[in-house]
Amino acid sequence: MSGCTGVSAGGAAPPREERVGVMVRVRFHGRGGHGVKTASRIVGTAAFLAGYQVQDSPVYGAERRGAPVTAFTRISGKPVLERGPIQSPDLIVIADETLLEDPVAGVLAGQEAASAVFVNAESAEGLAEKYSIRPEIIALDITGRTLEALGRASALSAGIGAAAARLTGLVSAEQLEEAGREELAHAGVLEDMIKKNVALAREIYAEVPAVTIHRGGPVAAEAAAPEMRTVAYDSPTRGAPSVIAPGNAELRQTGAWRVEMPVIDYDRCTRCGLCFVRCPDGAIALDDDGYPVIDYDHCKGCMICQQICPIHGIEIKKETEAW
Ligand code: SF4
Ligand code: SF4
Repeated sequence: MSGCTGVSAGGAAPPREERVGVMVRVRFHGRGGHGVKTASRIVGTAAFLAGYQVQDSPVYGAERRGAPVTAFTRISGKPVLERGPIQSPDLIVIADETLLEDPVAGVLAGQEAASAVFVNAESAEGLAEKYSIRPEIIALDITGRTLEALGRASALSAGIGAAAARLTGLVSAEQLEEAGREELAHAGVLEDMIKKNVALAREIYAEVPAVTIHRGGPVAAEAAAPEMRTVAYDSPTRGAPSVIAPGNAELRQTGAWRVEMPVIDYDRCTRCGLCFVRCPDGAIALDDDGYPVIDYDHCKGCMICQQICPIHGIEIKKETEAW
């Protein structure tokens, strides 16, 4: 069993009454299947049970196990009116150390404002220098602990949620346990596995130190109401998603994730354009004659185009056969 290591750890955060005017922003990074979305929900629910107002929301990239996933939890003593991704987190929680190597994942973005970075790793030793991490680093081998407790190394939500909840210094062990039970049941986890998860969460909560949240940004209670805009109608060729700059689509060769390949039967295609409109990755373009053309560098094989084609004109081929 490995202990929690950190560069330094501050004391507990001030009591709730002193924190009503600030908002604590926690940003989680993991991969599809790690459970960071559930971890962020556990932290949010635990904080809600502690009497705070909370907001949690995940952002998925391509819908695929192993793809980077980010989740956000905002905790405040006042209504949470702020929306969107957290750019300046108070806590950064990294469920997979390899994400630190990924230049696109941007797990350290906004670290200047953060009070601490939690890394699912055996030790914090050397991480600051290797990855230029400036806030204090807390590390614990959540994967190893999850494997030990649950017999599997994925589904890290209880451990990651417990570490994050403790780091905020805003929730009690009891509130964390209740939140864990509720969220795991909601996710369809069976009772005996919930008990193991909750026991693991309790252990990790006891090991991880609360850090001092130096800043805690002001709540956005006075934020102006968003301006309403009328969105003009665009034809499918303009309104459908496309893989264009700016963005990182070009860097993400999601075609490498594909296990099945959609192949258009051009003898039957009616050029209705539905596959072009519905491809979630904008991996289908229309040629000069209006026929759909698949960009196999970015098609990730979700097969939505195959399901949507009204004439069943898109065939599924095994990747090995197709190439
Ligand atoms: S399978 Fe079809 S819908 Fe899915 S990414 Fe590829 S082209 Fe787009
Ligand atoms: S949905 Fe089918 S018929 Fe319509 S453009 Fe795509 S391949 Fe052709």
